[in-house]
Amino acid sequence: MESYKYMAEPYKIKMVEPIAVTTREQREEAIKRAGYNTFLLTTEDVYIDLLTDSGTNAMSDNQWAGLMLGDEAYAGSKNFRHLEQAVRELYGFKYVVPTHQGRGAENLLSQIMIKQGDYVPGNMYFTTTRLHQELNGAIFRDVIIDEAHEPENEHPFKGNIDLNKLQALIDEVGPERIPYICLAVTVNLAGGQPVSMENMKAVYELAHKYGIKVMFDATRCVENACFIKHREPGYENKSIREIVKEMFSYADGCTMSGKKDGIVNIGGFLALNDEELYQKATALVVVYEGMPSYGGMSGRDMEALARGLYEAVDYNYVAHRLDQVKYLGDKLIAEGIPVVKPIGGHAVFLDARQFYPHIPQDQFPAQMLAAQVYLESGVRSMERGIVSAGRDPEGNHRFPKLELVRLTIPRRVYTYAHLDVVVDGVKAAWNNRHNVPGLRFVYEPPVLRFFTARFEPLK
Ligand SMILES: *Cc1c(COP(=O)(O)O)cnc(C)c1O
Repeated sequence: MESYKYMAEPYKIKMVEPIAVTTREQREEAIKRAGYNTFLLTTEDVYIDLLTDSGTNAMSDNQWAGLMLGDEAYAGSKNFRHLEQAVRELYGFKYVVPTHQGRGAENLLSQIMIKQGDYVPGNMYFTTTRLHQELNGAIFRDVIIDEAHEPENEHPFKGNIDLNKLQALIDEVGPERIPYICLAVTVNLAGGQPVSMENMKAVYELAHKYGIKVMFDATRCVENACFIKHREPGYENKSIREIVKEMFSYADGCTMSGKKDGIVNIGGFLALNDEELYQKATALVVVYEGMPSYGGMSGRDMEALARGLYEAVDYNYVAHRLDQVKYLGDKLIAEGIPVVKPIGGHAVFLDARQFYPHIPQDQFPAQMLAAQVYLESGVRSMERGIVSAGRDPEGNHRFPKLELVRLTIPRRVYTYAHLDVVVDGVKAAWNNRHNVPGLRFVYEPPVLRFFTARFEPLK
């Protein structure tokens, strides 16, 4: 792969943060202490942290300067106006409700729109999104195309909704029991896979024919836009800004985690066009977050997010980001390591089933693989398989088709040299894959168990 031509960083480095170099003995001790859950490691034990791209972004000098302009008024902060302006200009929604992060917006949206017994279709579940839907009495239905569940399938828009599945659900339960469709751009748990513009438009038209709203999970909308530019005919000469604007013209609102494509460390919002829904959201936001003009955020954080939203639609920024992820993925593929294809927007996903065909899914192969990658190299990754999928309302494990480990690239944080180290770590785990045992629970929390569960290896 020495001929790999990568896109160099479209920024230079102004501040550095030293990271921990650890020994194998230290890591063995650390992963045991963490109950074989990488979420429970401390950063002092982590060399390269690919746990998540959420809130781990490096802000620009312009964003840091914005922090100094925080207007910390209890009501009517000018930074809120800036955030609202950014969302109106870039996404095209009329109303913005700031929240402490994405799940704060999910909570508001689920509470104001869902009635007991409703159905919410979505293109694959997301952990917190589905939980808020279920807590409000809805049943989630996965209507993503079948290709999304096949790690080797190279469909360019594996995040697309299957219109036949959506139509079948409408026919089965009736449109009045579907308050909205939750369309994620990109689809995190499918491997960071994008949705095509054509599909967004078709979903919007079908939904509106029945009076059903379309709500985007906009968390990684800019990465989705860049895939459209690279892959969808007719968009190659459009700017990211134009593509993002068109995407949101096929939505009635969105929830947003600013911690991802907002390029900040904390924050999010709910955006809407409907005035009545907005009013309901403002009545609730004061209960769970704060005044409608700050939600769960400080003035300075709203300013950093407003600036981040503009920076994110710069083509060089997002193309470099996608290139870093692809660089890591291509190098692993060249080593013969099984990963989800095509390489997605924010992460490379290892196929744990192919690492450990001898470990049954209810012995948590992906959880163990994340622990092994850490042991080999000090690289921290995350399980995205049966542990993340949790239990169904009857209390049984959900058995997802995909049993994955996610190597997530934080925005503007690591270099291509760091990614080479990651390749070596995963290679070592692959070479030593044969006698690795499964795991069992020592502690299992009732919901969102992946965050705090503890495990031990089976004999
Ligand atoms: C992170 C994430 C969320 C939730 O956002 P938080 O800011 O972590 O609360 C929702 N949907 C997707 C697809 C995400 O990746």
